[in-house]
Amino acid sequence: MALSVIVAGLGAMGSAAAFHLARRGAKVLGLDKFVPPHPFGSSHGQSRIIREAYFEHPAYVPLVQRAYELWRELEEMTGERLLGITGGLMIGKPEGELVAGALRSARLHGLAHEVLTADEVRRRFPVFHLPDGFVALYEPRAGILSPERCIAAHLTSAQRHGADLRFGEALMEWRTDGKGVTVITDKGRYRVDALVLSVGAWFPSLMPSLPLQVERQVMFWFRPKGDGNRFAPEGCPIFIVEFAPSRFFYGPRAPSMGPTRRSFPRAVVHRPVGRGMERSAEDQRHWG
Ligand SMILES: Cc1cc2nc3c(=O)[nH]c(=O)nc-3n(C[C@H](O)[C@H](O)[C@H](O)COP(=O)(O)OP(=O)(O)OC[C@H]3O[C@@H](n4cnc5c(N)ncnc54)[C@H](O)[C@@H]3O)c2cc1C
Repeated sequence: MALSVIVAGLGAMGSAAAFHLARRGAKVLGLDKFVPPHPFGSSHGQSRIIREAYFEHPAYVPLVQRAYELWRELEEMTGERLLGITGGLMIGKPEGELVAGALRSARLHGLAHEVLTADEVRRRFPVFHLPDGFVALYEPRAGILSPERCIAAHLTSAQRHGADLRFGEALMEWRTDGKGVTVITDKGRYRVDALVLSVGAWFPSLMPSLPLQVERQVMFWFRPKGDGNRFAPEGCPIFIVEFAPSRFFYGPRAPSMGPTRRSFPRAVVHRPVGRGMERSAEDQRHWG
C-alpha cells in the first residue's frame, strides 16, 4: 500500500516535498495555513539567487548541482521557465570568507570560475565599482529563480501526481505512536504514516522546545539612475558582496522586469531587524 504522508507547510520546501513524494507514489495530503505562494513567509519577492561555488562549505556543491537538474526537469514538465542563468560575482577581500570559500568549493569540485581584479570587474561589468583591495570570483552558472513561480510549479505538479492540497488549513498538533502519526489541524484529524514539517519560520510556535530564533531578513528594491539596461543580466550578474568580515549583501535584478525597462536589483542585508511584516522603528532608523 502507498505510504500516506501529510506535508504541513507548502512554501519552497513543502511544495517541493509534496511534489517529489507524490511523484514517487506516496499518497500526499498537503496543508498550508495560507494560500501559497504568498508574501507572509520566506519565499516571495520575485527572485532568489542560485549558485554552485558555495562559499559556506564545499559539501553543498553536489546538492546544488542536483537542484539545477531538478529545476530543469520541473521546467520541462511544466513548460515554465523558472531558472535564468546570469553568471555570478562573489565580491570581497581575497582572504575573506566569501571569496576564499567560493574558491575552495570551485577548485575542489572543478567548477568553471575566474578570479577577477577590481579593474577587470569594472571593465567587464561596469555597474560594479569595487573598493580597493577587493576581488571577485566569477562563476558562469549562477542565476536567478522566481520563488513564487517555483512554488506554483511544484504545487501544480504535485496535484498532477495525485496530491490533495488544502489551503487555509493549519496544523495544530501531532502525536506519533510508533505505527504512524495522528495529525490535528484547525479543520480536522487525520491518521497517516508520516508527517513532513515544512513550516519555515513558524517552527518556533509549533515546537517551542527547539532552540530556534527567527531572524527577519529584509528585501529592498532600488531603481537605478540613468539607463536601466545597464542592469540587464549580461552587464549585471547576480552578486554577493562581503562588505565587512562575515557581513554580506546580495542581489539580482528582479526577473519580471523586461530588458528594456528599468531593473530593480535586490539586496538583502543579513541582520535581525524585527519580527513582523511591518517596518519596525529600527528599520525606519536605518533605512528611512
Ligand atoms: C529575504 C530572503 C532572501 C533570500 N534569498 C535567497 C537566495 O537568494 N537564494 C536562496 O537559495 N535562498 C534564499 N533565501 C532562503 C530561501 O528563500 C528559504 O530557504 C526558503 O524560501 C524557505 O522556504 P520554506 O518552505 O522553509 O518557508 P516558507 O516558504 O515560508 O514556507 C513555510 C510555509 O508554512 C506554512 N505554515 C506555517 N505554519 C503552518 C501551520 N501551522 N500549518 C500549515 N502551514 C503552515 C506557511 O504558510 C508557509 O507557506 C532567502 C530568504 C529570505 C527571507
